[in-house]
Amino acid sequence: MPNKKQIEEMKAVLLERKDIIQTNIDNGKQNIDSLKSQEVNDEFDYAEVSSDSYTEGLIINQQVAELEEINSALARIQHGTYGICEMCDDVISLGRLKAKPFAKYCIVCRELVEKNLSAQTKK
Ligand SMILES: [Zn+2]
Repeated sequence: MPNKKQIEEMKAVLLERKDIIQTNIDNGKQNIDSLKSQEVNDEFDYAEVSSDSYTEGLIINQQVAELEEINSALARIQHGTYGICEMCDDVISLGRLKAKPFAKYCIVCRELVEKNLSAQTKK
């Protein structure tokens, strides 16, 4: 289990990451708004604008999802359950937390989850 100092370090990393993502989301939304407010003259332009905002939207969705992961990691820090696998209650290794500060599963469970996900998409 990570000690207090290590948890403080991970918290700083998470908060920093959260800041960056929040800025990205805000900027992304502004970009979409400015794209939408641009005057669209013909069909070609319209396709360009909508595909751009579609891509922007996908990026924002990813960022929002990551923001949620970060928020839930911060909540786990607050509740003292940070660094513990949600599935098997095992301790998540510090190396893994450093690579992915908002990891909620240990490596074994993560693999199981990923296998399940890819099995679902194959159906
Ligand atoms: Zn686990």
